[in-house]
Amino acid sequence: MTSQKKIVIIGAGISGLTTAYLLNNEGYDVVVLEQKDGVGGSIETISENGFLFDRGPNSGLETTPLIQQLVKELNLEDQFVYANREGNKRYILKNGQLHALPMSPPLFFKTKLFSGKAKLRLLAEPFVGRSKDGYYQSIAEFVTRRLGKEFLDYAINPFVAGVYAGRPEELSVKSAFPKLYALEEEYGGLIIGTIRSIRKRKNSKEVSKQSAKMFSFRDGMKVLPEAIVNKLGNRISTGAEVTSVRSTAEGNYGVTFRDGKQNLTLLADVVLSTVPAYRASELFGHFDEALAKHLNEIYYPPVLVLYLVYERSAVGQSLDGFGFLIPEKEEKSFLGAIWSSVIFPNRSDRTRAAFTLFIGGSRDAGFVDDVEQMVIDRARREFELIMKISAEPVLISKRLWPKAIPQYNLGYVEHENFFDHFEKANKGIILSGNYRGGISVGDCIKNAELIANKIKNII
Ligand SMILES: Cc1cc2nc3c(=O)[nH]c(=O)nc-3n(C[C@H](O)[C@H](O)[C@H](O)COP(=O)(O)OP(=O)(O)OC[C@H]3O[C@@H](n4cnc5c(N)ncnc54)[C@H](O)[C@@H]3O)c2cc1C
Repeated sequence: MTSQKKIVIIGAGISGLTTAYLLNNEGYDVVVLEQKDGVGGSIETISENGFLFDRGPNSGLETTPLIQQLVKELNLEDQFVYANREGNKRYILKNGQLHALPMSPPLFFKTKLFSGKAKLRLLAEPFVGRSKDGYYQSIAEFVTRRLGKEFLDYAINPFVAGVYAGRPEELSVKSAFPKLYALEEEYGGLIIGTIRSIRKRKNSKEVSKQSAKMFSFRDGMKVLPEAIVNKLGNRISTGAEVTSVRSTAEGNYGVTFRDGKQNLTLLADVVLSTVPAYRASELFGHFDEALAKHLNEIYYPPVLVLYLVYERSAVGQSLDGFGFLIPEKEEKSFLGAIWSSVIFPNRSDRTRAAFTLFIGGSRDAGFVDDVEQMVIDRARREFELIMKISAEPVLISKRLWPKAIPQYNLGYVEHENFFDHFEKANKGIILSGNYRGGISVGDCIKNAELIANKIKNII
């Protein structure tokens, strides 16, 4: 028999919904409160003139068996799709030209993306010792030391822009790429560590991000949160903005939220926050001033997502890949582009090609001060030149995320340690969401399982 204690989850993004789903399945009394009228949080899909536009994540990586479990239990087999083979080919822009990222040693030695010197430098990696700086290292420091500056500039810099919309000089290697950091810590190097950890992983069900398959849904990423909501039924309230969380004399928590024009309060034994850090600070900061400080220090840069559709015949570049990323050194006004209709079905009809461009991030957060139309025109012109496009788009759509993705910047370990300490000191409050344990959809799903188990242990 499960406990009848009440669990209130704040936020119906993928973190909150997956945790609610797992707990609800086991008979726990769960309620989800979401401020918006819709669910999914950063996951947003819209259909415009017959084109499917994922305005947040375009795909996820299947790093945990829980994703297949969800697909089966939610009857989403017909909707679930893996990226097609082209999805494995990624391009990097160098001197105005797209170069395929080499995915095998022979291709690596052939590529023009790196100079001969950079290739030789990479071979020296096994002989580079551990850093004395411990966890206080940026990705840029870590990669330059182990793999050389050119590899940082033309592989890691664009990759980090693609994942975090971030900059390697600012992100903490231990917090943003814990597996990479662990390879050096545990095995003394990346090449030797990768070989040994592949052997180790064969014995577990975990899949590394490099080998995980990329997935989405025929009708876009929103399919997953919406299917979870259908299962949760009246366990979820939308249009319910949580305005305060207070401890009660009885030792539990009063969670107050707006319901239309009135305020309602639910009593909870466990309150799980999955809202962004700056919102969590408003709700939980009064429990501990230091918590508010840690949460407010987490930086979320703005990102403008631009969706462009063209007649396929007007695109001169051969469309045989996932898209391309742009190194900061190339000084372009956008971070990269996903060739959306190439990798997943249903994004456009065969005569058209749909692309998703990302502008801003930590690299260029100042774009929000420019006139938006100018920002869009600039990115469009550069994109059309790179892609050899000779016509006007048939559709332009956009979505501005003023605070897009939390940056696991240098010193993040202090935040992570403090959150652990806070939860121990305030039993029944759990802080989760994409600023803890990884920002990707796959990581959020994986963490939801950990959080559900944590809640079961304290209830
Ligand atoms: C533009 C963009 C592109 C991305 N691309 C990818 C990608 O391709 N692949 C990938 O794996 N990841 C990607 N990500 C990251 C990933 O989408 C997110 O990290 C993840 O979806 C976050 O889920 P979450 O549930 O933790 O938080 P959120 O999705 O932010 O959900 C939090 C929810 O809390 C609600 N909320 C906030 N305050 C309150 C309140 N006071 N009361 C009630 N509810 C409240 C919000 O409305 C929201 O619904 C992308 C993110 C963005 C923004």
